[in-house]
Amino acid sequence: MCLIWPFCTIQFCMAQDTTNTIQRVLFGDRWFRFDRYEITGGYIQPAPDAHLIEYQPWKGFDKPQGKESLKRPYLSLLELAPLLDFDFSEKRTTRLETPGEERLLEWCSQYGLLGILLHRVETATFPAETRFPRGLSGNVPVPVAERLERTNSGWRILDVVPFLHPPLPGAYLRRKLGDFEITFESLSESWAHYFPGVSAADLDSYQYPPVFGLEFWRQYAEPLSEFVDAVRMFREAVDALRNLEHQSRLSPEQTQPWLRAERVIHALSEPVSPMLYRTGTGYGLGWACHSLLGTFAMMAMLDLSGARMLECANPKCRGLFVSKAVKAKYCNTTCRSTEQVRKYRSRKDRARQLLGKGFSIAQVAEKLRLDPTAIGNWVTKWHTES
Ligand SMILES: [Zn+2]
Repeated sequence: MCLIWPFCTIQFCMAQDTTNTIQRVLFGDRWFRFDRYEITGGYIQPAPDAHLIEYQPWKGFDKPQGKESLKRPYLSLLELAPLLDFDFSEKRTTRLETPGEERLLEWCSQYGLLGILLHRVETATFPAETRFPRGLSGNVPVPVAERLERTNSGWRILDVVPFLHPPLPGAYLRRKLGDFEITFESLSESWAHYFPGVSAADLDSYQYPPVFGLEFWRQYAEPLSEFVDAVRMFREAVDALRNLEHQSRLSPEQTQPWLRAERVIHALSEPVSPMLYRTGTGYGLGWACHSLLGTFAMMAMLDLSGARMLECANPKCRGLFVSKAVKAKYCNTTCRSTEQVRKYRSRKDRARQLLGKGFSIAQVAEKLRLDPTAIGNWVTKWHTES
């Protein structure tokens, strides 16, 4: 039996209004990143002298309009997927091959870690310590266990004062990323897995720092293998979903990949919760995303349902972008003009080859769908040059 101290709650929110203007930021649309990361012992963690920076992941997430091609933060994560190969030389499987490793660390310094632990957790209870509950004072400190709860408006931390026995430390969480099954695990089985600095003897008794504080981010690290699995899983699901977007009926071969992709994107966005908030003139609907991975999955779902997600047709780019335009092919104007120049040059070379084989200008023009006058001008120029 416990007394849950109602005056000692701290709320952290990541929220986004999606009902009208997507860029509207509510409450604490925030995530944290360090300016430098490193890979040590199979973990991605902040470099020792790195600085913590707070930012707003949803900032600038505008609804796609007109013919514009949009880049999104989550697309840069998806673009990492093909680069993330483990380095098996000298059995160094805790590192990635170049340039994947450099790109991953650069990405983390721009966006931070994915928040895989927070993505998995529903509630967590930490070992009791003897102190005054937050916000209260008295003569005798009491055993107080801190509890973390996922709520519809973000994370809530509260102090639990047990009457008889302290609550069992541990966490209710998804068994693994992308899974719907919730299980209870002791702190040494789950929470400690993301805090490599805690010594083996203290894994169950350590006073883990409260989420979202400087100490939490300083000590929190993500296993490289889990980060890579998350990125690959996300990319595979998004690719399958966008490639099957225009299929009115799925063939038997397409059904399984679609079901798999649908399950993954739903599992990755599962921690996102609807949230009612006051607007001053009534109520609005927002979303608490709880982790960067959840935020990105939510963004992908919004884009998949409200626009098209495409791969740039410039073979030297192949970057992902979002657009509402039916004929969109390139991620930006540079790629469009680069590809147009390349195609123009290739047709010019082809025309020269065909003319060299004895075809007439009219035949070449018909074959390559070119203007005969343009070919005539090229021929004149080639004669002048030679
Ligand atoms: Zn491009």
